[in-house]
Amino acid sequence: MIQINQNYTKLPGNYLFADISRKISLYQQRHPDKPLIRLGIGDVTRPLAPAIISQLHQAVDEQAETATFKGYGPEQGYAFLREKIAKDYQNRCGVKIQADEIFVSDGSKCDTGNFGELFADDTKVAVCDPVYPVYVDSNAMAGRAGTYNQKTGRWSQLNYLPCLEDNDFLPQIPGPAEPVPDLIYLCFPNNPTGAMAGRELLEDWVAYAREHGSLILYDAAYAAFIREDLPLSIFEIEGARSCAVEFCSFSKLAGFTGIRLGYAVIPDELAFQGVQLNALWSRRQTTKFNGACCLAQSAGAAVFSEAGQQQIKDAIRYYQENADLMIQALSEMGFKLSGGVNAPYIWLKTPDNMPSWDFFDLLLNEAGVVGTPGSGFGPCGEGYFRLTAFGTHEHTAQAIDRIKQSFGQ
Ligand code: PLP
Repeated sequence: MIQINQNYTKLPGNYLFADISRKISLYQQRHPDKPLIRLGIGDVTRPLAPAIISQLHQAVDEQAETATFKGYGPEQGYAFLREKIAKDYQNRCGVKIQADEIFVSDGSKCDTGNFGELFADDTKVAVCDPVYPVYVDSNAMAGRAGTYNQKTGRWSQLNYLPCLEDNDFLPQIPGPAEPVPDLIYLCFPNNPTGAMAGRELLEDWVAYAREHGSLILYDAAYAAFIREDLPLSIFEIEGARSCAVEFCSFSKLAGFTGIRLGYAVIPDELAFQGVQLNALWSRRQTTKFNGACCLAQSAGAAVFSEAGQQQIKDAIRYYQENADLMIQALSEMGFKLSGGVNAPYIWLKTPDNMPSWDFFDLLLNEAGVVGTPGSGFGPCGEGYFRLTAFGTHEHTAQAIDRIKQSFGQ
């Protein structure tokens, strides 16, 4: 008889977005004349840049000719793209990465969700709280999270790194008496808090990982939003090549949330028990993945053209203007908030310690604005609320006006 993988049955339902949708439907039935403004989901709204569109058209046309048609490609990605990504590392952050250390994929959700497969079942995992849920759920699916406690919102075997106001929402290095994690998931700029780690903290994490033989899984999906003089890559930190893997995405960099493209960087020298992770991931990908779509890879190459670089920077600046507007207006209204400077996310403290969901209801029903309750990202997100800068200028300004009216300012 078929036995279900019980790790999957232990997963709690993904109530966060289901609950949000249900509440939105109710609101829409009650207020058919007042359209909602959505500043909740993390999807982009700007169309693809002209340089990318033009390359996409060309790539489509190439598929119509025998001479230029592309079928199966290399599972690790086409050399033309891997070489451009390697060069971009050098230009952007002065980091030397070889093209064969880059594994192109269809996005970093898959990469961050799948990478744990390379490690044993009893691998100890540390995650931030609040956290991008993929790290938690993928480890629970692998059976290394223990059991989920509905009351505390935590898994028994995960090691949580609380990210709270008093530590600037940054994960602190475990003390000598605390358990040592094998895998440490770090995400900077952070989703959901919008926090960005300074060089010193990243140096401390790299030193910790090297001392304890741990591996940092560094998610840099939002690196393009860093405005201050802060590390754009974990590999800017000395010693990181022997203790870190980095995941990058074209989604927020260049609006590829629909097209799908990302990559993982796995340094050659990264090895545990004498096994090279680069070779192991290559083995995994060649078995389970047939490469990112050739059209997406061609379009990805256009991101690194001179015109492409200028155009994607314009789109990022567009979102940053939204973030600036929200920070200024919400601060003037007396809200306490963080993030938004080096990230597209604003982390709002709810007024009077209101539970995240109560604030969600209030904002929805009073202002017709949708955000994401912080508690949906982990217990330490309770009392917070995530707003994104990915809306249009018009909607963002409208949302601010509505919030002003509703909160009597
Ligand atoms: N990592 C983080 C922290 C994210 O917030 C997201 C998407 O929201 C991803 C990865 C996934 O990006 P992709 O679209 O490349 O799968």
